[in-house]
Amino acid sequence: MSEPTQETPAEEKPTSFSVFYSCMRCGTQVSQSELTRLPEIKCICGFRVFTKVRPPVVKTIKAF
Ligand SMILES: [Zn+2]
Repeated sequence: MSEPTQETPAEEKPTSFSVFYSCMRCGTQVSQSELTRLPEIKCICGFRVFTKVRPPVVKTIKAF
């Protein structure tokens, strides 16, 4: 008898999605992980006001 292969089901982690921030001035989108790496939250253009951007919901579409 062969042992059935145990496949780990793909778990959807709620924290897996990345949050993006968009610069209010130039619209450059920076990921949250990128921002946290910076010494200060600042855009490449020098502006410091960001808006939270929700990444587009990626739905699995079956391609025929
Ligand atoms: Zn900017």
